Amino acid sequence: MKTLIRGIYPARCLVCGDIVSSDFGLCGACWAEMPFQEGLTCNSRGAPLIGSSFDSEEICDACLRHPKPWGRGRAALLYQGSARRLIMGLKHSDRTDIARPAAGWLLNVCQDIIHKDTIIISIPLHWRRHLTRKYNQASLLAYALSQLSEADYIPWALKRHVHTPKLDKHSPQEREAIVKDAIEVDHKFITRYGNRPILIIDDVMTTGATLASATRALNAQNIKTVDVAVLARAVFETDF
Ligand SMILES: [Zn+2]
Ligand SMILES: [Zn+2]
Repeated sequence: MKTLIRGIYPARCLVCGDIVSSDFGLCGACWAEMPFQEGLTCNSRGAPLIGSSFDSEEICDACLRHPKPWGRGRAALLYQGSARRLIMGLKHSDRTDIARPAAGWLLNVCQDIIHKDTIIISIPLHWRRHLTRKYNQASLLAYALSQLSEADYIPWALKRHVHTPKLDKHSPQEREAIVKDAIEVDHKFITRYGNRPILIIDDVMTTGATLASATRALNAQNIKTVDVAVLARAVFETDF
């Protein structure tokens, strides 16, 4: 059946649309251009680090100066070039087909932080934004990751009870203030899953303000083991 479908709809490269031999992937040229996160990375934000140490606990200077509230952080891609275009497509152009292969890339970088009792959750949209966008890209990624990793995904764990403005144009300090108390944890989630390790998924980490707000909301409910993973993270000069 799969072959039959493949015959009618041959697999296409996610970026350029060329026919590719494997399902849900990239052609060779687009693969080579995709800014995958490689080498030694910071254990907190997944930022690239200079050096060749294999110490997986290493933290970058920026995270030492301003520690993140979560435990470990992972990113599959750098938010630039073709990764940025792909994520814009997933977010704004109904390219929901991107979620599953992207979750595969995500799994590659967070295999070591997903255990059999891990609960995967995702950063929610406010219902008003959800209405206009029709789907939540973070939720699609989290669902696909749960299918690939066989960890449980609980889509309703977090709620956004404040409709926050878009953060794009704001400074790191402003972002932090805007999203500070915007996210709350569902009470049923606390009683059912409060003793399990949590992995929060989002599509992009810029300053990490939203993920920090979600982590703090979980911590405030005594849920202490919280890791985060994003499809792509912004690159800052302070990273290096
Ligand atoms: Zn391509
Ligand atoms: Zn760091």
